[in-house]
Amino acid sequence: MPSIETLRGIGLDTATKLGRIGIHSIEDLLFHFPYRYQDRTQVRPLNELVPYQEAMTKGIVKSVALVYRKKRMMLVTIEDEDHGATMLLRFFHFSQAQCSSLKKGQELLCFGEVRRGGRQLEMIHPEYRVVHPNRPFPMERGFVPIYPTTEGLMQQGLRRLTQNALEWLDATDHDLEELLPAEWLSQEKLPALKESIRYIHRPPADADIDLLSSGGHPARQRLALEELLAHTLSVKRRRTRLRKQKALALNGGQRLFARLQASLPFQLTAAQQRAIKQIDNDIVQQAPMMRLLQGDVGSGKTLVSVYPMLKAVEAGYQAAIMVPTEVLAQQHYHNLRGWLQPLGIIVALVIGKLKAGDRRQTLHLIRTGEAGVVVGTHAMFQEKVDFNKLAFIVVDEQHRFGVHQRLALRQKGEQSDYAPHQLIMTATPIPRSLAMTMYADLDCSVIDEMPAGRLPVTTVVMPDNKRRAIIDRVYAACKNGQQTYWICPLVEESESLACRTVEETYQVLAQAMPGIKLAYIHGRLKLAEKQAIIQAFRAGELRLLISTTVIEVGVDVPNANLMVIENAERFGLAQLHQLRGRIGRGNEQANCVLMYRSPLSSRAHWRLNVMRENNDGFAIAEKDLQLRGPGEMHGTRQTGDMRYKVANLVQDIGLLKKAHQLADPLLSGNTTVCEKLINRWLGDNIEYSEV
Ligand code: ADP
Ligand code: MG
Repeated sequence: MPSIETLRGIGLDTATKLGRIGIHSIEDLLFHFPYRYQDRTQVRPLNELVPYQEAMTKGIVKSVALVYRKKRMMLVTIEDEDHGATMLLRFFHFSQAQCSSLKKGQELLCFGEVRRGGRQLEMIHPEYRVVHPNRPFPMERGFVPIYPTTEGLMQQGLRRLTQNALEWLDATDHDLEELLPAEWLSQEKLPALKESIRYIHRPPADADIDLLSSGGHPARQRLALEELLAHTLSVKRRRTRLRKQKALALNGGQRLFARLQASLPFQLTAAQQRAIKQIDNDIVQQAPMMRLLQGDVGSGKTLVSVYPMLKAVEAGYQAAIMVPTEVLAQQHYHNLRGWLQPLGIIVALVIGKLKAGDRRQTLHLIRTGEAGVVVGTHAMFQEKVDFNKLAFIVVDEQHRFGVHQRLALRQKGEQSDYAPHQLIMTATPIPRSLAMTMYADLDCSVIDEMPAGRLPVTTVVMPDNKRRAIIDRVYAACKNGQQTYWICPLVEESESLACRTVEETYQVLAQAMPGIKLAYIHGRLKLAEKQAIIQAFRAGELRLLISTTVIEVGVDVPNANLMVIENAERFGLAQLHQLRGRIGRGNEQANCVLMYRSPLSSRAHWRLNVMRENNDGFAIAEKDLQLRGPGEMHGTRQTGDMRYKVANLVQDIGLLKKAHQLADPLLSGNTTVCEKLINRWLGDNIEYSEV
């Protein structure tokens, strides 16, 4: 398949950006699918608009004003002359030319999210065009696809590129190879590849968009099936290879762990002990362990993973723990050093952004085997890291990684004569039916008990017009010595907007809480800055931490016992549970405030109630499964299922079973097709969302 540079409209700069999201060829681009669609099929009259809905609308410009409130803004009022309804368009970023080109009496066509303003409905930064009577309709129409993207690549640009790719595909001598057996497609009544690709990128104006979004449309099903097949083939192929390998039997002593245990101020829970025993049974064997450890946030998985790590070290080998974010890597590094340094073990840290000198030193320690335990992000296998004798691997918060990433780390540890044991840890409970198919290569342990003395977090749900009272309550708590997280709303699609929200919230809270030490943290800060802030928060120097969901995964500050989550209605259940799991880690009563913006959809209402009434992750996951459906995937995209382009493990469980049936005959029969399928869907797409 031709490289992406051969496509019209792609310069080196764009090619580099596309490369960041795994798009190198035209085929990759064609297989980069929208995750939702904007409905621009109709122009809705102003008087029919409802808040929180995206809409295309139009009106006559009544006024254009520049105002200064904290910041310079341009305010444009438009009116529907038939009904008298008005709407305010609010712009924070605009040029002089933009401002002077807008004139009273012009007709404006706008697209954006409708919001409830002070006196009337508003749109913030809508897309807009002036309507001229004798010119064609000035905006894109139909269902407009929204693609997963990366910094600096705009939706419009991606739409143009996918359009070019579709046109390229239409040229007579170009085609995509059909890899699914024809008889199978006709039997299942599924459309051909090319047709499906075209449909999903550009659904026709009469498309049943709900069917498409909920996964029921044959075009989508066909693609999901092919994708699931590719993943299944890849996992099965790897597993067959792995089965043939040998591992280092870790059947030596456990003095190191005994010493660690003696130094801890608490006892292991019975569930932790049981998990350790199961792991121990595996690692004394010469076959590589592949075990999944499930346990709710705060259940103490890290300590369980330390047991086999110490056994590896005691036997003279190395152990590694891989985590999804640098913030989390820092934290594990910090904690593990606290536990292991007194035992004389050197812990090394491998992340993408190490200073050259530190990196050299670290790599040296790892290569020589002096570093017994290595903590890191995926940089561990992307960079030139040579282990001396890696016998054991832990993958933490596995829901953020794909099967293939963890396999890649494992490959790293493979030498000609042995493969490392592997423990996969997750706080996201995986329903049994899914676990059996997706994790068929793993044995499973569950920690179903919290450390003694933990109190369930008390959760309240409040509308954001109570913000003042909430701020007062947080202020009082902080003055009282409590530590608090303040989580800012999820902002889809624009990281810079998310960061701005955090900074603005910081300003407001800093003003409202004189005398309280506070800081903000988000993805744009340098690692060293993030590190310093988390460190200061952990040390209790900071009382209030304002954050995006950077802190979502695994951050452990036992003294923080209050959390406010803004726009909680925008988060998915799994994410809310992960976030809330940051508090209630000590023995103090912890409180969580879920703040929402009215009016709540009935689903959002239900979701917030689930959070109020449940503390148990497994119960919440069950509810999540019941709930997930069309349009509710907001906020879950960044986490677990990201590595699938179209398939969704919840919706497509039936397809997954079919993929399994189809996989075996293909594996034993047509290896070329297997190879092509795996390349097409998995490629080298090992890209992580680093927060
Ligand atoms: P998670 O399962 O979410 O990864 P962690 O491993 O981060 O949880 O553990 C959460 C906190 O509980 C840590 O501060 C850890 O030291 C502590 N912890 C672990 N095991 C126990 C135990 N048996 N009793 C009390 N505290 C424990
Ligand atoms: Mg953890």
